[in-house]
Amino acid sequence: MRSHLLNGTTAERYRRSVTAGVERVAATLATTDRPFTGVRVDELSPVVDAIDLDRPLGDASAALDELDRVYLRDAVYFHHPRYLGHLNCPVVIPAVLGEAVLSAVNSSLDTWDQSAGGTLIERRLIDWTAARIGLGPAADGIFTSGGTQSNLQALLLAREEAKTPSHHFTRLRILTSECSHFSVQKSAKLLGLGPDSVVPVPVDQDKRMRTVALARALEQCVAEGAVPMAVVATAGTTDFGSIDPLPEIAAICRRFSTWLHVDAAYGCGLLASLDRRHLLDGIEHADSVTVDYHKSFFQPVSSSAVLVRDRATLRHATYHAEYLNPQRMAAERIPNQVDKSLQTTRRFDALKLWMTLRVMGADGVGRLFDEVCDLAAEGWRLLAADPRFDVVVEPRLSTLVFRCIPSGITSPTEIDRANLHARKALFASGEAVVAGTKVDGRQYLKFTLLNPETTAQDIAAVLDLISGHAEQYLGDSLDRAS
Ligand SMILES: *Cc1c(COP(=O)(O)O)cnc(C)c1O
Repeated sequence: MRSHLLNGTTAERYRRSVTAGVERVAATLATTDRPFTGVRVDELSPVVDAIDLDRPLGDASAALDELDRVYLRDAVYFHHPRYLGHLNCPVVIPAVLGEAVLSAVNSSLDTWDQSAGGTLIERRLIDWTAARIGLGPAADGIFTSGGTQSNLQALLLAREEAKTPSHHFTRLRILTSECSHFSVQKSAKLLGLGPDSVVPVPVDQDKRMRTVALARALEQCVAEGAVPMAVVATAGTTDFGSIDPLPEIAAICRRFSTWLHVDAAYGCGLLASLDRRHLLDGIEHADSVTVDYHKSFFQPVSSSAVLVRDRATLRHATYHAEYLNPQRMAAERIPNQVDKSLQTTRRFDALKLWMTLRVMGADGVGRLFDEVCDLAAEGWRLLAADPRFDVVVEPRLSTLVFRCIPSGITSPTEIDRANLHARKALFASGEAVVAGTKVDGRQYLKFTLLNPETTAQDIAAVLDLISGHAEQYLGDSLDRAS
């Protein structure tokens, strides 16, 4: 069994084994002609369940053959130009290379004595990101597992900075637009705030937070004796890609001395954009910022960070353990990243971004993100000119929310059903993957465009498929009715 341990004597097996895996993925990518096979849960789960985990195959090649059947063949492929579903990007090769290196070396970024240069690389990337945001000389931050954890940590810091004793946590309020991410609510729950602690602020037609309503909500909080602990602005809402008016929100936060967190999990790609960086103007006023490199920097999951304006606030996540990061190490200025993190053992995810920047440069990443934003603008023009569809907002980033209005149908409930059916039928066919969401209680469909290889022709073709499935559904339901 020792021959399976990765070390200096097993280098050849390591090379062969990993290369075989890479070959397998490369061959699959080269031959998949659709983002998904359309496999159903009831088809695939018996295949997975039939495997006896207590009878190992003993050899990587046999395990790869098996993996082909249980996973690779039927996986959902984000690199495919007709994957238009969730906020998952195709990944860039330099980042995948970084991933291969980081898992083999297996540094853990909690302490200097488990990572050495890894810690320094992560710190450089945090500084790089903070500088792109414009957070100033006292900024700092940490890589996290994703936007959810970044938001949680930012709100933990905000809660502590609000200096409210824990028996008064139910008085704390977080104000955020009704289009913000649900992790804000989850965080409030984890942080021990009351069930009504998250105050939804209405949005305008473009799904951006209404600042007049924000100011009014803050005034009302204060009048009721509640403590507005944080405002969470979103730079790139998950559904619409809308960007809250950051400069105005920052001014209001200053007036009320409230912590401003900007959730740029999606919109962070603009930090590298050559054409659209101005859309983030005002983000530099934030007290904390969430960025998901695994959304708009073309990085593999996971790669995310939380940044703060004032590094001293990260002390709220600091605990010292004698075995790991004793107090004396801080005095000796030994850089232990665990002092700033909610996690202890932690992946060296930063290496992926490092390799990306060293090979492609930030402009390279930004150009790719600009391309998908341009594509979304083109898709919007297609949708707006097409009588078969109703489109919600003109995209700022790369998201399109729309619904099919099949000919001759006026019942909103029937239209809802037809759209839901179209999404499911498309997924089952595997020809394209799209997402869905509700707008004002009605069923809509969503394209999240993150693949520069997707073309306007792909969008037009997927719209035709959707329209076909929706019409088919209505034809079938008319048959049933008669
Ligand atoms: C995706 C997303 C999150 C959550 O990030 P994860 O990386 O999925 O945990 C938070 N906020 C916004 C705006 C998002 O789009």
